[in-house]
Amino acid sequence: MTRIVYVNGDYVPEDQAKVSVFDRGFLFADGVYEVTSVLEGKILDFDGHARRLTRSLNELDMAAPVTMDELLDIHRELMARNDLQEGMIYLQVTRGADADRDFAFPDPVKVPSTLVLFTQAKSIAESPAAKKGLKVISIEDQRWARRDIKTVQLLYPSMGKMMAKAAGCDDAWMVEDGHVTEGTSNNAYIVKDGKIITRHLSNDILHGITRAAVLRFAKEAQMVVEERAFTIDEAKDADEAFITSASTFVMPIVEIDGASLGDGTPGAVAMRLREIYLDESRKTAI
Ligand code: PMP
Repeated sequence: MTRIVYVNGDYVPEDQAKVSVFDRGFLFADGVYEVTSVLEGKILDFDGHARRLTRSLNELDMAAPVTMDELLDIHRELMARNDLQEGMIYLQVTRGADADRDFAFPDPVKVPSTLVLFTQAKSIAESPAAKKGLKVISIEDQRWARRDIKTVQLLYPSMGKMMAKAAGCDDAWMVEDGHVTEGTSNNAYIVKDGKIITRHLSNDILHGITRAAVLRFAKEAQMVVEERAFTIDEAKDADEAFITSASTFVMPIVEIDGASLGDGTPGAVAMRLREIYLDESRKTAI
């Protein structure tokens, strides 16, 4: 079955979908994105992702191409046309295609933003990686200073994934001034003496939608949560560690820079949170 993608109001086969070479997403990485997960044909936490998208657009003075209600309809139509039961929906908004390459933002009335969405069918709830746990390396965080905006400037995270791969690991945790910011495409957590520790929100990290939900569920389950920066040394000495993101949910980390955490298998807190997250998200999926 040919995948049907959405481009600026049209649903087209993926090999017929086109965006201009003058699109600012292509020329300047002048765009933002969201990834939402789909389980049993329903979207998880659409409102959270729509809220963050609105915030990203506002921070960059970029016009929303459609209303958030229309965006939900597009998600549903795309799911139906691709018969998506489980996987992800990727969406990207850019500042559109100006008449020429110009650093200055174009007039949004003359140049409409570009909106693209596509589905990615994938088994995500039943994850062999979650049973085994991931190995991460630490790398210096060399990204720009507005990591709270979900832009498509993903070159450094891509490089980080390649560095991890070269080291025989699954991912990288980025470190600034000795403190962990986040994973290349996820938020980072450690567990010490039963306490869940994760970096506080600021411009230094993406405000993960999964992070917000997981911290809420953890507090509801009477777990102790501390939102503060932690060092990479503290992480290597932790009882357990994990990451969260819309597409991996809660994923245990079993090794950091070659140092095994606990007994080297997924920790109990991470496994429990994964279970709670999946149960609760299924209940509120739309
Ligand atoms: N941090 C970064 C840098 C990310 O790219 C992502 C995933 N897009 C996250 C955190 C997790 O965010 P979410 O839970 O909303 O997927």
